[in-house]
Amino acid sequence: ATAPQRRRITILGSTGSIGCNTLDVMAHLGGSTTFEVPAITGMGNIELLAEQARATGAGFAVTADERRYNDLKSALSGSSIEIGAGPSALIEAAERDTDLLMAGIVGIAGLAPTLAAVAKGADIALANKECLVSAGDLFGAAMARGGGKLLPVDSEHNAIFQVLDQHQRHAVERIILTASGGPFRNHTREQMARVTPESAADHPNWSMGLKISIDSASMFNKALEMIEARHLFNMRPEQIEVIVHPQSVVHSMVGYSDGSVLAQLGAPDMRTAIGYAISHPRRASLPVERLDLAKLARLDFIAPDETRFPALALARIAMQRGGLQGAALNGAKEAALDAFISGHIGFLDMADVVARVMDQLDDGRGANSIEDVYAADSEARQIAASMMRKSA
Ligand code: NAD
Ligand code: MG
Repeated sequence: ATAPQRRRITILGSTGSIGCNTLDVMAHLGGSTTFEVPAITGMGNIELLAEQARATGAGFAVTADERRYNDLKSALSGSSIEIGAGPSALIEAAERDTDLLMAGIVGIAGLAPTLAAVAKGADIALANKECLVSAGDLFGAAMARGGGKLLPVDSEHNAIFQVLDQHQRHAVERIILTASGGPFRNHTREQMARVTPESAADHPNWSMGLKISIDSASMFNKALEMIEARHLFNMRPEQIEVIVHPQSVVHSMVGYSDGSVLAQLGAPDMRTAIGYAISHPRRASLPVERLDLAKLARLDFIAPDETRFPALALARIAMQRGGLQGAALNGAKEAALDAFISGHIGFLDMADVVARVMDQLDDGRGANSIEDVYAADSEARQIAASMMRKSA
């Protein structure tokens, strides 16, 4: 037998859905790999963060919420774990020496710390798709400078990564992202106009964080993933297709110039994608459910209806316009999503708000720095907020 491997993994957003699944995968790989955790970060759930820090023997535990410093300190009293709070501590956590960083924060808040780890040359397991949606060009350039590997965690992109033949990149014609269609796949527009946040958060196949679950229902999640795919795999917008596949068994596909389509299949369990990203180029041994194809019996594929799911068209517009339109789409979407969650706007209003904000910010500007991205993000949120106030 070979000696156990030693690996250092830092986890940004350890207390979230991706973060908890990452720790679970690491626990299962514990037999073959000895893990060290240089740093972990969370935000509101201090109790869980402290528990994870003790369990992993983390070097540094950080809450993104500055006001919770003392809570974290008392939760970790008696341990030798260093503690920190606030944005600069998040950056410090990301910059600690590590082999791989799991980018598991939700939203654009993850951009600065993830880019800090990229600059240090760490391999990046990327769940935090907003980094690529809002700052794809900057992120790609920073990865090239930093020299680390970029390992997609989002299940669709992880699937594509698994079946993308690196030696035949010129022969890749298209990538086909699968989408479950969410809980409103068969709703009419009239029904969709009246849905509640609770019903939108109820994903049929995947168990995920609140925002990404509602984004799945509106297909804004798929819109973000189209832009994410463009940057991860260097695709032109017209090479990126979306197909509704209610069973969520085919996680995505790559189409080649000889007509072949390669797919990755599996049970809808994020631990497969996380395990692949962490273990690459090896394969992990994981206790996820095995597919029973006879029991499944069938796999369905349906063209997406863009009149009920306008988010997909918005992603294509954002890709064609380029520059800061991805940041505008994401920022406006965040503001609209918050307004939907708090009951101020309806489900279908989200796409209208995003479209109008994107048009208003369509001035051909690109991002020269991370500050440009954060500025475009907050401008998009402000414009969205004032639009929603006016129409309230
Ligand atoms: P989540 O809400 O469950 O967890 C988010 C994590 O980020 C938590 O640890 C939270 O404390 C932290 N966080 C939240 N706001 C923060 C802020 N302002 N500053 C710093 N930290 C903050 O989210 P999730 O579902 O785990 O998703 C994480 C990312 O992974 C998202 O970008 C999501 O789109 C992507 N993703 C998630 C899944 C999934 O299965 N959950 C699948 C694919 C992609
Ligand atoms: Mg996904």
